Amino acid sequence: MTLVLSGVPASAGIVIGPVHLLRWEVPEVVPRTVEAHEVDAEIARLHAACDQAIERLRAVRDRVEEHAGAEEAAIFDVQISICGDADLRSSVETLIRQGFAAEKAFDLVLLEWREHFGRSTNALMRERVSDLLDVQIRVLSLLLDLPDHDPVGLPKGSNAILLTHDLTPSLTVQFDRDAIAAIATDAGTGTSHVAILARSLGLPAVVGLRDATARLEPGTVAIVDGTHGLLIFNPSEERIAEYRERARVEQEEARALQRYARAESVTVDGVRITLRANVDMPDEAAAGATSGAEGVGLMRTEFLVVGRAAMPDEDEQYEAYSRVLRAFAPHPVVIRTYDIGGDKLPVGGFPHEANPFLGWRAIRMCLDEPELFRTQLRALLRAAVHGDLKIMLPLIVSVAEVRQARALMNEAAAELVARGVPHRADVPLGVMIETPAAVLTADALAKETAFFSIGTNDLVQYTLAVDRGNIQLVNRFTALHPAVLRLIKRTQDDGAAAGIEVSVCGEMASQPLMAFALLGLGIRQLSVAPRSVAAVKHLIRTVRASAAAAAMALALDAGTAEDAEKILKSRLLAELRHGGEAADGLLALVDSHIVPDQADTH
Ligand code: PEP
Ligand code: MG
Repeated sequence: MTLVLSGVPASAGIVIGPVHLLRWEVPEVVPRTVEAHEVDAEIARLHAACDQAIERLRAVRDRVEEHAGAEEAAIFDVQISICGDADLRSSVETLIRQGFAAEKAFDLVLLEWREHFGRSTNALMRERVSDLLDVQIRVLSLLLDLPDHDPVGLPKGSNAILLTHDLTPSLTVQFDRDAIAAIATDAGTGTSHVAILARSLGLPAVVGLRDATARLEPGTVAIVDGTHGLLIFNPSEERIAEYRERARVEQEEARALQRYARAESVTVDGVRITLRANVDMPDEAAAGATSGAEGVGLMRTEFLVVGRAAMPDEDEQYEAYSRVLRAFAPHPVVIRTYDIGGDKLPVGGFPHEANPFLGWRAIRMCLDEPELFRTQLRALLRAAVHGDLKIMLPLIVSVAEVRQARALMNEAAAELVARGVPHRADVPLGVMIETPAAVLTADALAKETAFFSIGTNDLVQYTLAVDRGNIQLVNRFTALHPAVLRLIKRTQDDGAAAGIEVSVCGEMASQPLMAFALLGLGIRQLSVAPRSVAAVKHLIRTVRASAAAAAMALALDAGTAEDAEKILKSRLLAELRHGGEAADGLLALVDSHIVPDQADTH
């Protein structure tokens, strides 16, 4: 029977293909004891499972090395050494001798090691926690004879849909982009890191499906509709045909939109908007540069760390940043310093926190780890000779952080001078405005920074106290709440008064209705996913900035997000109707409801 699950649309596009289920979680281990005469066999079973895991990990490592590079593959060497570790094996043996079955003994020892490593004050030790977890899952799956869920070994061209609870960094580097065509996850929302990653990779994705992994039947074919946030198991022939047609239409529309890529981004009443792209991976820079974007408004450098055992060194970072700068020269490229923590790439080395989003993340972590931060700053200052670089600091809450960061940047420049390495020391330093604290001190921040970029994903989260990654709260996460709109407006006004550039680089800017709202708030610079550049340009060229401002004047006074949305939508639709036939595609985008049908089974 066909089963339609609705989740959150995370990355547009349609894929029809076999589902590859990846259950990457510690399996439940039912306690079991062994008699004295069974102990030797049980110990042999332990070693066989560990050896088999090593064999498997070697295959994974080789494949990752081939696809992603030696640095990304190194994490698997760490896991191989854990599986072969004599102390670990002998601790498990001891428990088996006490009567525990191999799987229970292994589970207990790994649990203890994870606890111990997690509590360590040494960052390198803490970094091993996620590797221990991966080893625990892998070896227990072997000991319990569970199906092999590795996304390794899928034939190329499988066009598979990767279905998993959540996508961790180590899973991300493992999967084969020639075999996986779409992503579907139980967890996540439109602004959580799995969604950002899918968009960066250009893979259609639906997230926030809640229990999809539990409802899948083996061997299922499915449809991922990343545009509307649907996952359809066992579709009928008619539905497959319908979706093939939809996919064709979507591709045609995307092609048709490409004619706007080269067009100037100016509103009907002559207001020029600077439209840049969010580029997260250096590999995408070349493609992003052809999207029609006038540079990069946000490069999330934490994606350089995805699935790695160690942070990239200065030279590697220098190469990555230079690639993006060269691809977009002479346009500006805004590179953000590491924003690690929260739900973003929780590299194992970071302590477990009760409230990660309020925790040791982003600029806080960088200022507390000056060696790590100066390495990144040196790489950035060196890369700056290849283009028009601007450096941006994430999650700023005070001017003091900017001063500290600037002092470290000066130190980094001095180190490069001492080494005689070519670089630029005068790179503009800007900040992300993504906390109410930053907005309310924007006037002070503007005196010490070159530009503002509003990160609406976090600004909404911290203003409305709504976890951006919590699927339960997805309807409460809205940038159209009057409080958020007022904060954006205030940032724009304070930035303009100080004569510095203000842009918006959160996901909000990629959606036509939201882009219209931002124009209405006076925003003149947007940074969007490369795939959205043409559509947003089309929107800009179809509306009047004055109409957006008039709509926003009303929306700002609306008591609720719902009322603000109604006002903006009706005004935007009126604008688009004036736009004639060419605006039909946009009309459909704005007018459509995300989920056509909430029913589960059809
Ligand atoms: C934001 O918070 O809006 C933003 C652009 O940064 P990120 O999504 O990486 O937190
Ligand atoms: Mg942010």
